[in-house]
Amino acid sequence: MVERGDKSKGSELAIGVLVSVVVPVYNEQDGLREFYDRTKRVLLGMAGFEHEIIFVDDGSRDVSVEVIAQLVREDECVRLLKLSRNFGHQIAITAGIDAARGDAVVVIDADLQDPPEVIERFIEKWREGFDVVYGMRETRDGETVLKVWTASIFYRILKSLVSLDIPVDVGDFRLMSRRVVEHLKAMQERDRFVRGLVSWIGFRQIGLLYRREKRYAGETKYPYRKMIRFALDGITSFSNIPLKMATIMGYFTSLVAFAYACSVIVQKFMGYTVQGWATIMVGLLFLGGVQLICLGILGEYVGRIFNETKGRPLYIVDYESSTERLRYEVPGHSVGGSSSKD
Ligand code: UDP
Ligand code: MG
Repeated sequence: MVERGDKSKGSELAIGVLVSVVVPVYNEQDGLREFYDRTKRVLLGMAGFEHEIIFVDDGSRDVSVEVIAQLVREDECVRLLKLSRNFGHQIAITAGIDAARGDAVVVIDADLQDPPEVIERFIEKWREGFDVVYGMRETRDGETVLKVWTASIFYRILKSLVSLDIPVDVGDFRLMSRRVVEHLKAMQERDRFVRGLVSWIGFRQIGLLYRREKRYAGETKYPYRKMIRFALDGITSFSNIPLKMATIMGYFTSLVAFAYACSVIVQKFMGYTVQGWATIMVGLLFLGGVQLICLGILGEYVGRIFNETKGRPLYIVDYESSTERLRYEVPGHSVGGSSSKD
């Protein structure tokens, strides 16, 4: 393992250096072969580096596992890590990073939206001494206007709420040095927002612009419901400002209520005792609304505390191609047995 960030970079670094490519996979059967071919071509083109490609099957319901198992048979650089069920994109990435053995670890989606050719540029930057090289989406082809627009709003809200510098329009497509990976592995929080955690770690980080392409096959696994969940994870993991906003809203409504109470008292002394029901209704609904919003915000945080305190493992591995007893036998269920990881 070579420690990055010192002066020992340069040509001698390439010998015996391992680059791990981590690929989360959920129902990607039609694109996997093409993904492998393109990625392999890029990796073979980089002389002097060894590589491994780790496919993390996140509980796919199609034949993705079979396709990957075939790749494992054909190429000893390919590894399969099959999770016991669908744990979600961020956890799948985490599982892959935990399993990676490389001096540098690249995370890339399986759908070819992130072009594997960019990995070469990532590696160049890493060899210049950067610990994290992340891809910045210059354009996003083939995504709906609504998705691009909501994503853009989300990144900007996140930026305004979080004191940490989480770059805008950046996904999980990135390269991390071994020391960053080790620090990331030490972070066991559950509702994970991996790109935020990596920003938090620090060291020398740099962004590279790239064109985000159309999905090669299949469709997005991020419906709006999941996107909202993900956005909330990002915000609540890195900011307390929503809680503070609840307090501010509380103060504000109390102030308005107090002013109105004064006006009611004055009116009573002046003899106007009967007020219309409209004012009461408006006040009641307004206060009720504010209280529910504040409760909801509290609930988001309490829910996350609840998740953390349960202390369950982040994911469970069904089988891993590199463990000897299972080697090349996937996906036959006769192999049985499961190993849990925490
Ligand atoms: N993915 C996963 N688990 C999930 C959802 C997605 O491992 O529960 C994988 C998916 O196979 C893909 C990557 O995560 O390789 C990104 O997902 P997707 O392309 O659907 O997201 P989008 O690019 O539309 O935001
Ligand atoms: Mg995608």
